[in-house]
Amino acid sequence: MLLYNSATRTRQEFVPLHKDIVKMYTCGPTVYHYAHIGNLRTYIMEDVLDKYLRFTGYNVKRVMNITDVGHLTSDADEGEDKMLKGAKREHKTVMEIAQFYTDAFFEDCRKLNIRRPDVVEPATACIDEYIKIITRLMDTGYAYFAGGNVYFDTSKLARYYVFNDFNAEDLAEGVREGVEADANKRNKNDFVLWFTKSKFEDQALKWDSPWGVGYPGWHIECSGISMKHLGEDLDIHCGGIDNAFPHHTNEIAQSESYLGHKWCNFWMHVHHLNTTSGKMSKSSGEFLTLSLLEEKGYDPLAYRFFCLQSHYRKALVFSWENLDNAQGAYLKLIAKIAALKPGSSVVVQEDFFKLRDKFTAALDNDLNTSLAVTVLYDILKAKTTDDTKLAALDHIDNVLGLNLIDKAIEKRAADAAEKAAAEQAKANAQFAVIPEDGVEDPTITARIHERQRAKRERNFEVADRIRDELKAEGIEITDIPGGAKWKRV
Ligand code: AMP
Ligand code: ZN
Repeated sequence: MLLYNSATRTRQEFVPLHKDIVKMYTCGPTVYHYAHIGNLRTYIMEDVLDKYLRFTGYNVKRVMNITDVGHLTSDADEGEDKMLKGAKREHKTVMEIAQFYTDAFFEDCRKLNIRRPDVVEPATACIDEYIKIITRLMDTGYAYFAGGNVYFDTSKLARYYVFNDFNAEDLAEGVREGVEADANKRNKNDFVLWFTKSKFEDQALKWDSPWGVGYPGWHIECSGISMKHLGEDLDIHCGGIDNAFPHHTNEIAQSESYLGHKWCNFWMHVHHLNTTSGKMSKSSGEFLTLSLLEEKGYDPLAYRFFCLQSHYRKALVFSWENLDNAQGAYLKLIAKIAALKPGSSVVVQEDFFKLRDKFTAALDNDLNTSLAVTVLYDILKAKTTDDTKLAALDHIDNVLGLNLIDKAIEKRAADAAEKAAAEQAKANAQFAVIPEDGVEDPTITARIHERQRAKRERNFEVADRIRDELKAEGIEITDIPGGAKWKRV
């Protein structure tokens, strides 16, 4: 399988570091708000990678952190703690906020068929790991203590700018509006490993450490959690493209300085979901959630389908029109699958493998999901049996996660129910129910129609029972040509 590696800027053959396991790490959500559908694009595409590796036979161990402390409103180690900001906004404690939005995140994942990683670890549960790493970085001179905080010293590295093409000068200019330069830093790109001093002294979560009571920086959590569960190396680290710098760059800096060797082999970055006016972001407050899409009548899996239709290394523009088109195409696809007849034939192995190979060829090419989606149509058009098509669709849906077969079964049942209702309505219209006193009673009319339906279906037991029940209520039915009369006796 060829996978683009952001660290080498090339597509490389994916070869696991160890024979028996693929170690995969994913930057998890910052749980101070709902995930927006941009975040979810990243998790959908990472899920495809996770599932495809398993599909091809690898034993994957995937770890994800939950950022419930330390992520400030600016990447430049300044600003308010995002969690605290959420807690203030909603008049809750930080831990209440974290629990609420963690649950909401996994509920979104469930609806989108995103497999829960094997290990999900909140940042607040691994403080000892961070202290262990920072202690060694201090001992070996990679970190320093200044103004109450512990910083990583980027000047100690031969190579720091792994994930960007900026030169040092550009980055030196990089203090953003509203963010003051931190005078304690020896170098512009140094970053905080441990805070004891913050401009916002009301930081709710604090732990004891060799450098004083405080809390970890954001970047250290991913290194600590990954090493805790996956050891000293890593096959694939994933995240959205915005995490490449500074977050992942800093993860590499501190991890490799701590370990004394290379840490992660492949870096997979999912490009952004943008709105027509720019990047969708949580902090701008302007974002769409999965629940909002559902409220507007969209199936979460239509959103998954929308994401699969484009390559993960291209920015994807969200618009309602684009989503409408995706939902329309998804429903049409389901309808076509529903029209196939299961059990009508046999699975032709040779055809099945040919179709499967088309699918794997698409995903082996740097996870080309848009091409993989077209394979679904190739399967439907293939000159083979319905059972072969259904088996192939079912098989590849283990990766695409579109619930194709279940949705087709639902669709078939819904169509059958609709057809039966239409037939019943037609039959009712042709069968007159006449009250002898001229006073209509919709309940009695419905029951007489029900009796007529039972008779039509030659279910005489039910027909007689309805007649007896009506009789017991004092209602007598007389059959007439093209209908029935009734009266109260
Ligand atoms: P956060 O909860 O902000 O830490 O982000 C969770 C994940 O979503 C990270 O992997 C981000 O890189 C990713 N992400 C953030 N914004 C977008 C976006 N507009 N499109 C795709 N992924 C994004
Ligand atoms: Zn991370």
